[in-house]
This record gives sequence, structure tokens and C-alpha cells, in this order.
Amino acid sequence: MVIPDLLADERFKSNPLVVASPHLRFYAGAPLVAKNGVAIGAMCIMDTRVREFSEADRAQLSTLAQLVIGQLELRNMSGRLEPVSGIPNRHQFQIDYDALAQRHSGRRMFAVLVDVFDIPRANEAGQALGMRPLEVLIRRAAVRLKLALEGLADVYHVGVTRFAFLVEFSSAAEMEALVDELRQRMTRPLMAAAVPMSPRFHAGVCAVTLGEDTSDDVIRKVLIGLHQSFEARHPFAWYSEQRDTKMRRGYRLAADAERGLRKDEFYMVYQPRYRASDLQPVSAEALLRWTHPRLGPVSPGEFIPVFERTALMQTVTPWVLDATLDQLAAWRGAGHFLALSVNLSGADLSSEDAWNRLRGKLHARSLPFDCIEIEITEGEWLRADSVAGRQIKAMAEAGIKIAIDDFGSGYSNFGYLSDLPIDTIKMDKSLIDNLETDPKAKPKVTAIINLARELGYRTVAEGVETPAQLHFLQAQGCDQIQGYLLSKPVSAEALLKVFDRALDGRGPQASSEIA
Ligand code: C2E
Ligand code: CA
Ligand code: CA
Repeated sequence: MVIPDLLADERFKSNPLVVASPHLRFYAGAPLVAKNGVAIGAMCIMDTRVREFSEADRAQLSTLAQLVIGQLELRNMSGRLEPVSGIPNRHQFQIDYDALAQRHSGRRMFAVLVDVFDIPRANEAGQALGMRPLEVLIRRAAVRLKLALEGLADVYHVGVTRFAFLVEFSSAAEMEALVDELRQRMTRPLMAAAVPMSPRFHAGVCAVTLGEDTSDDVIRKVLIGLHQSFEARHPFAWYSEQRDTKMRRGYRLAADAERGLRKDEFYMVYQPRYRASDLQPVSAEALLRWTHPRLGPVSPGEFIPVFERTALMQTVTPWVLDATLDQLAAWRGAGHFLALSVNLSGADLSSEDAWNRLRGKLHARSLPFDCIEIEITEGEWLRADSVAGRQIKAMAEAGIKIAIDDFGSGYSNFGYLSDLPIDTIKMDKSLIDNLETDPKAKPKVTAIINLARELGYRTVAEGVETPAQLHFLQAQGCDQIQGYLLSKPVSAEALLKVFDRALDGRGPQASSEIA
């Protein structure tokens, strides 16, 4: 904007800087526009006398303005560029996204988070090759991605091996086509320290509405998509609201757990276990319950896995053990010599102190070691030479019974079991559920029962819901039965009644009643 004589211009002739000191007469200004499109000011020349401003003068002022904006951006950029790739970082993504959202509120776009090399593999490569080749790899991947998105989107380096960008497409199909093209380009081998490496490719994709989704929302959503893509072992996955809700609910549960324990929102219930031959109750499994003040009853199937990913089991398990052992002690005091099973998770046993603490709790209540059984889920962590393996051995030596829970639900292997002092195999509910539908389920269950018997393990079927399942298991020689057919988990008082009735010779459900 050039005003050769401010006094002759309607817009400025009464401006205070013109009518009073410094009595300006001339103005020329070039706007300073940042890369994100925001005008942050002007580079201007003023004088107290009228001037001519030639085309060459204009060009020079524009050049000066560009130099200034370049310097400003450079200064801004420090701390906003990822040093490895030289690409703007997450901080810059936030700034640019916010600016874009302000200018184009309501616009629908797609956000993508690309992972070019999963972290465990990156760490492995780092150990083998050193960090430099790894950085070279990441830099090359970054360059590839930038080239692939040239003219389409700006790339941001938002995590060690992760890049984000925003694009505008009219359909999800176009978005998916681009992701597929990126995958093809990105996974071609790259040389790093003379070793050809193949970058991995995973992407999380989500639709965002500028002005509605904050930059934090965007990063969170694409991360959810990315993790979904890891889990599904698929090159990309869309953000899922269901997963988002689940994650947030999980977070809420974890955040509320300790308060819940203090406020008595947790309690134990007991599900009886019956001898298969005559359906007499023999013991019971202690199961945790939580009535959340706002969410209502929450299943341990939901909250236990969440707690296991935090340090919360360190608080929850001692609470469960105290509650269960207190109950056992109270029953004993009243002349009822019951035995209970408690569920422990991998983390509970992976401490060198696990057995000591349990022993202390039993001693404190003068309880014998054989009044409890520990249920643990099978898994690779359960090797004889692991910390957990040693804790289990110590417990078994003292007379505590050990049961393998959820047997047959996934990774099932009698091989490693023989190294551990296991008493009982609990066949997973999924095996029992399938007895009537899956033709392979019956031979599987039969084989497990027979093999377990030969190896000296007691077998328990859990989740037995129908008489047909019960009769099949009885016929195969399964030792014990647990399931809704015989009893749901019940309160301590109700459990006593189950046992009292059995002692009276009025078994809760004689097999003839069930048939
Ligand atoms: P689990 O140890 O496999 O426990 C069996 C689950 O199946 C229990 O669910 C029980 O209520 C349910 N169930 C038993 N019979 C039937 C049946 O016939 N039909 C159906 N549909 N379900 C049946 P629950 O109490 O919801 O517990 C879920 C899981 O949470 C447990 O699976 C266990 O892994 C975990 N859990 C529960 N309490 C504790 C605890 O105190 N500590 C630890 N570490 N985990 C616990
Ligand atoms: Ca169990
Ligand atoms: Ca189970």
C-alpha cells in the first residue's frame, strides 16, 4: 500500500499522526504474512514529506518484507523443528492446526498419523547399528513421505518414528487410496549403514472438523487409529469412537479405583465349585465386584485388564487377599472350614516378595496354607525359571494349591506346565460354550481331560450353563464343575447356605433335578 501524500488521502488526512506530530505525509507498507497465512503486521516506510515511489522501490520493499518474515519464521522455528528430520514438530503442528481451524472453522479434513518403524524394532536396530544409521533411516523415510505428499499436505514429525499430516478429500475412499499409495512407497527397502532395511508402515486415520476438534483431539484420535492398526495387523485403521470411549472409560476406572477401595465400593462374591460325580460343593472362587458411584456395576472382566496395565494391582490384590482371608477366618471362627480360590495376575506374582506377603497375611489370621488356592492364567510369563515361577514353587511347597485358569483359551501348552507344581487345570468357558456347536470342541475337551488325568492334574470346567454340557463333562470324567447352571457367584452368607444345604443331604441341585 502506497500513499504518496497522506494529507491528500481521505482515509488518512485526519489521522493524529498526520494532523499532529510527527506530521507524517508519506506511507508505503508491505504486509508480513506468515507461512500459515496469518498477517502478523507490515514492513513500512514513512516520511514527513511527500514522496514518489517507483516500481523498483515497491519491489525492494516486498523483498525486504520477505526477508523479515523469513527471519521471524526462522526464529519461531527454533524449538519447532524435529532435529533428526528437520521437519516441523508436534508443537508446530498444534500452532498450524489452531491457525487453520481459526480461519476455516467447520471445514472437514482427514488427519493421518504414519508410523514408519515400530519402536521395538527401532530399539533393536539402534542396539545393532547405533543411533546414527537409525536416524538416517528415519530421515530418509521422512523425505520419502514429504515427497509423496508434495503439494498435497504439510508433514509434521510428531514422534520418534511418527509423522502426521492433514489433507482435504471429498471421500474416505480417496483418503484410503492415498494411504495405500503411501504404504507402497514407504515400505520399499532403504539403506541404513549398508544394511537394507524395510521401513514398516502403519497409519491411523480420522476425519476431523476444524474448530470442533482441538489439536489434542486430532493427535489422540489418530493415535487411537494407529494402535488399532497395530492390533489388527493391518497397514491402517480408522479412528473408532467405540475404542475411544472404551479407552476413556478405562482411564476413568483407573483414576477412580483407589478412592473406590477406600469408600467400600468394592466387595467380594463367591462362586461355588462342585464335585462332578455327585454335585456336592467343594470350594468356591472369590471374585471381585465394583459398584462405581456413577457408572454402576462394572465387571472385573473390564476393570482388571485396565488395572493390570497400571500399578493398581499393587493396591487391589492386597485388598482382595485381605477381604478373602478375613472372610475365611470369620467362617473358621464360626466353625465353617471352607476353602477359597483367589485370582492372581502375572504382575502380582512377578515380585520376589509375593509369597512372603501372602504367608504373612495367612499367619496374621492363623489360617492354614491349604485353605486357599491360587488361580493364574496361563501365559509365557509363567516359566519355571521366572520370578513368578519361583513364587509359585514356594507357595506350592508350603501347601497352597495352584490352578491354571482359562486353559485352552489361547496359548495352551502342557509342556511348560510340567515344570511347575500345578494341581488343577481350569478349562476355559469358551471351550465349554462350544461343546454343543463346534464339532471339534468335544474331542478337544476330552483330550484335555484325559491328558490332564494322566499328568496328575485335577480338571475343572468353568462356565457350565446347560445340562447337556454338564452330562458330557461328567461322562468324560471331568473332576469339578463351576457355572451358572449350578450357581452364580453369590454373597458370603448365600455361599454358607449352599454348603449347609449340602451337609443336610439336600444338595442344591441333585443331578436328577437338572436333567
Ligand atoms: P475368571 O477367573 O475366568 O472368572 C470366571 C468368570 O466367569 C467370572 O466372571 C464368573 O462370574 C464368570 N462365570 C462363571 N460361570 C459362568 C457361567 O456359567 N456363564 C457365564 N456367562 N459366566 C460365568 P467375573 O466375576 O466377571 O470375572 C471376570 C474375570 O475378572 C475373571 O475371570 C478374572 O480373570 C478376573 N477377576 C475377577 N476377580 C478378580 C480378582 O479378585 N483378582 C484378579 N486378579 N482378577 C479377578
Ligand atoms: Ca478364575
Ligand atoms: Ca477362567
